[in-house]
Amino acid sequence: MMKTKQIRLQSCVCCDTGSDVSRRSFLAQAVGAGAAAAAGFMALPALAQTARDRIDVHHHFAPDFHRDAVNARRGGLRWPKWSPQMSLDDMDKNSIATAMLSVVQPGTWFGNVEETRKLTRQLNNYAATLVRDHKGRFGLFACIAPPDVEGSLKEIEYAFDTLHADGIGLLTSYGTLYLGDPSFAPVYAELNRRKAVVYVHPIAPNCCKNLVPGIPVGSIEYATDTTRTIAHLVFSGTTTRFPDIRWIFSHSGGTLPFLTGRFIRLADERKPAFLPNGPLPEFRKFHYELAQGNTPGQIAALLKMVALEQVLYGTDYPFRPGAEVNAGIAAYGFSAAELQSIKRDAALKLLPRLKA
Ligand SMILES: [Zn+2]
Repeated sequence: MMKTKQIRLQSCVCCDTGSDVSRRSFLAQAVGAGAAAAAGFMALPALAQTARDRIDVHHHFAPDFHRDAVNARRGGLRWPKWSPQMSLDDMDKNSIATAMLSVVQPGTWFGNVEETRKLTRQLNNYAATLVRDHKGRFGLFACIAPPDVEGSLKEIEYAFDTLHADGIGLLTSYGTLYLGDPSFAPVYAELNRRKAVVYVHPIAPNCCKNLVPGIPVGSIEYATDTTRTIAHLVFSGTTTRFPDIRWIFSHSGGTLPFLTGRFIRLADERKPAFLPNGPLPEFRKFHYELAQGNTPGQIAALLKMVALEQVLYGTDYPFRPGAEVNAGIAAYGFSAAELQSIKRDAALKLLPRLKA
């Protein structure tokens, strides 16, 4: 049995009634709870033995051959230490039943079609083997590279019909192209026809590396690139033209929940026929996962934009441990029913295979 050190949310009064400051304070305590308890100045409540029931929609696989391929083209990239067993160990520690595998950015698109197709296929085959060999523990958001439309269409067919992938994984941008690019339309037509789940992960965007001295690109640009690509998808009419694609965006939507006013005004000024009620109905159709987007302010802003049913559980393993999002969720003070939706039920609506 697991001996998970899970922080019990119901035991914390401040979670339900406290101000943002007290919630933040509890979050900090929760993240550092082990060390604090060891130091003897913070009594932890009895730790609940929770079932392994969470579905992690933001979980990377990072085999050495992907690292080597990326380094051969880009060089010097920081790469996480990872193995399938490391994933399983962190999942077991943090009550995660199933992790949906997606590639580490920068994915597989480096401008050469043949190289991209070979690496993409190799990664998808590798991940599908993990799904098959660890029954129920992994799912797959298969990689494609939409700038290569023909290769993407072939890979979509292979991923769904041969590998039985659960969805497709995209990056927020490919070079200078964002996801609303009209050249991607044939790819979306096929994904729409299949009513595919499409998980979108940020990338360090070409536009904006090393802009601010001393600040890593990931600290600002991952969240910003997520917002850029959602805005492009909505304001290009892509999401209304292909309404059956079921989108999941990372990190609580990046900065989107904080910029809704600007996008509402933009739609008001332009009055695009495909957004008769502005952009909010589109933003509210999408799903958002909570990895690195689970401070009290981030969760509160997200929940002002979308219904709870659109919120999914994600860890960003191996970049972040599952304990981090668990602490953030616990500190927010969700009800038991809300927690059940976030950690499992909302994902099952998108990924019914995992019910088995
Ligand atoms: Zn990630």
